[in-house]
Amino acid sequence: MYSIDEIAALDRNSVLHPFTNLKDYASGAAGGPTIMETGKGVRITDATGREYIDGFAGLYCVNVGYGRTEVAEAIARQAYKLAYYHSYAAHTTEELARLSARLVKMAPGDMSKVFYGMSGSDANETQAKLVWYYNNLRGKPKKKKIIARERGYHGCSVVSGSMTGLNFYHDHMDLPISGILRTGVPHYYWGANEGETEEEFSERRAKELDALIVAEGPDTVGAFIAEPVLGTGGIIPPPAGYWQKIQAVLREHDVLLIADEVITGFGRVGADFGSHLYGIEPDLITVAKGLTAAYVPLSACIVGKRVYEVMEEGSAKVGSFSHGYTYSGHPIGAAAANAVLDIVENEQLATKAASRGAYMLSSLKKAFAQLPIVGEVRGVGMLAAVEFVADRDSKTRFDPALKIGARISQAARDRNLIARAMPHGEILGFAPPLVMTEAEIDEMVGIASAAVKQVMDELV
Ligand code: PLP
Repeated sequence: MYSIDEIAALDRNSVLHPFTNLKDYASGAAGGPTIMETGKGVRITDATGREYIDGFAGLYCVNVGYGRTEVAEAIARQAYKLAYYHSYAAHTTEELARLSARLVKMAPGDMSKVFYGMSGSDANETQAKLVWYYNNLRGKPKKKKIIARERGYHGCSVVSGSMTGLNFYHDHMDLPISGILRTGVPHYYWGANEGETEEEFSERRAKELDALIVAEGPDTVGAFIAEPVLGTGGIIPPPAGYWQKIQAVLREHDVLLIADEVITGFGRVGADFGSHLYGIEPDLITVAKGLTAAYVPLSACIVGKRVYEVMEEGSAKVGSFSHGYTYSGHPIGAAAANAVLDIVENEQLATKAASRGAYMLSSLKKAFAQLPIVGEVRGVGMLAAVEFVADRDSKTRFDPALKIGARISQAARDRNLIARAMPHGEILGFAPPLVMTEAEIDEMVGIASAAVKQVMDELV
């Protein structure tokens, strides 16, 4: 057994942490590391014995809560039986075949096959290749550009990072690559013109998309990728009519729709998928996070009939589908996913997320909507955000140097609540495990209120 200090020293000397200021961590100025040790339900405990409410389910992923022994047992069973075999050249396992049939059946749209990876980023990398492959096979070799949205988040590998519409994921990393186009974020609060209705705003965004495709040439645009509810860019549910209008434009120009359901899949928004909630009919769907509730890494691209049929037909000409990872369709990942989906179904977590999410949103509105530093409280299902502004009447933003979002998140953390300061803007995000009870929601909102009050008091 290592002591806390020994673990900290080992970590500081040897771990390259994602999204961490390296100099501050190396010098100790940033504090940490926080050594996480155990979890049960919506709570996690660090090595000092301090218990936190996890109001963000890790990174919006531990949807079934921590410490689910059913999932651990399913993982162990598969590990004892057969820990690994690959899925190249038509090899499979029972868990993988079962999971795939299940995903095709539960997914929105007209789906056909499932391809597996380990992360949302690599799955979106695969989606880009599928779009290129599909258009090569059907004799449209120029139809390759992919349109993504400002503030969309699709990962941080080379193509997925380029799809991501947040500059700090690009800076100093030579991204974005060429061939990725950008269109506007559907955030009514900041983006609407004076007097514009949500429908009119959605119409304007759809017209912008249409104009972009026409300007580039529809025969050069292969796909549009978007999250049903924009996530890391600020937790922004779409304005009324948005998805209907966007899909009409895509259909007109024969542009594929990739629904990035990495956050919104498997109940998070109060429906099986975000696409169900908003009437989206995707050609390709990306899932990860909630698929295994992060008990082990697993992601998937669910491929629609329209794309798959061209691929199957094309293999007569070009041979094997030459794409795949050592760990594609990993049996332990598949076993974990089946166990997690059993919980999601048996405990009706999508339905619960709808009703508890409504309770969470109304509690957050009650606590925050009238505060002078709150511009908007928004959300859907178990996904919500509070956006802070210096002046709500004139919609004046806070000086970023004040780091309001980060300070509020820290004040919550000091009170043993994890709520995420979203990386863009002054926004506090909530995405707790879907199993969170109303009493736990009350506790979470109470702590968040105290944290906001502390920072408000510091401002006067
Ligand atoms: N797509 C969306 C919508 C996400 O929210 C994320 C991660 O937060 C990703 C893709 C990337 O997933 P990963 O971090 O597993 O690579």
